[in-house]
Amino acid sequence: MSEVKLSGVSKAFGSTTALTDVDLTVSSGELTAVLGPSGCGKTTLLRIVAGFIRPDRGRVEIDGRAVVDELTVVPPERRGVAVVPQEGALFPHLDVARNIGYGLPRSGQGRRRVDEMLELVGLGGLGTRRPDQLSGGQQQRVALARALAPSPRVVVLDEPFSALDAGLRAQVRDEVSQVLRAIDATAIIVTHDQEEALSMADSVAVMEAGRLVMHGSPTEVYYRPTDLDVARFVGDLVELPGTKAGHTVDTVLGRLPIHGSVLPADGPVLAVVRPEQIRVDARVERGATGAHVDDVSFFGHDALARLTVRSGDVPIRVLARTVAPLQRGDDVAIRVIGPALVYPT
Ligand code: ATP
Repeated sequence: MSEVKLSGVSKAFGSTTALTDVDLTVSSGELTAVLGPSGCGKTTLLRIVAGFIRPDRGRVEIDGRAVVDELTVVPPERRGVAVVPQEGALFPHLDVARNIGYGLPRSGQGRRRVDEMLELVGLGGLGTRRPDQLSGGQQQRVALARALAPSPRVVVLDEPFSALDAGLRAQVRDEVSQVLRAIDATAIIVTHDQEEALSMADSVAVMEAGRLVMHGSPTEVYYRPTDLDVARFVGDLVELPGTKAGHTVDTVLGRLPIHGSVLPADGPVLAVVRPEQIRVDARVERGATGAHVDDVSFFGHDALARLTVRSGDVPIRVLARTVAPLQRGDDVAIRVIGPALVYPT
């Protein structure tokens, strides 16, 4: 188990700034997801930890010892950092056991370790298959086993599920996080998939344009995002113009309590809630806020409804996550459960 600490890490490629002054601590045994849009610097951060890229400024420590700073550069193979790349990158001509054992001594001990790894990732008995005789999910588990075989201090995973289709992706994601937890690995996983980050990780580091803008637990980044960009990035939002007065805000969906410690001044603000905070009722009673259903996306476990609320002449678009069987054209009543976050307009 090892702590990974980045302090003031910056990197530019020519005139392109990839990372600016990033401070990030991943505690020992923790799985941290680095989440952000394409091009925000996630892979660069990972490659700096692994040692494939040297930062222009800053320091990376593993277990309190610098692996890179102004004076030190520990090469990748001596960092104890294992990399699981996007698409397994297995050796096609070697069988599964040889892929896993590639970096291990060719001794009885090495072979026992390969068998242990095969069991760990649920592929016992498949050691003699070639990678092309495995499914995409199985190949990704072999890549994980290969990375874990030399008992690395830290595992970094770069969008490891992006080549898998949606159903398999969720399953392999669960399996991989179980394996990482079982061996108490310190792991950093790069993803641009919000659901993946929130469901897998102990903490989520949100990046925007080369900067780390928030690092917190999945519930913190989802319900208490530090700014509107983070709020928008980590999930769907309902954005309502409002007027703040003290710890409440008046919106088209009524007066809502406000969550948050640093609040803008009273007056016009943007109030935001998550779509699952909107309750939809098929019966429109007197005094209720009425809305018109424009469209419904049905996902089986729930549905996302796009609604319009009329406030005077201004139509306000609202997203609601609901299990109610709604259809386009329905008129419904809606209300908000729980507090709103408010941001300056
Ligand atoms: P994605 O999700 O699309 O993989 P990312 O968040 O991982 O993106 P990076 O790959 O870290 O982003 O790239 C950050 C920025 O640095 C981008 O603007 C990218 O074009 C640039 N960049 C990365 N590597 C290089 C390189 N070797 N040479 C020049 N520019 C680079």
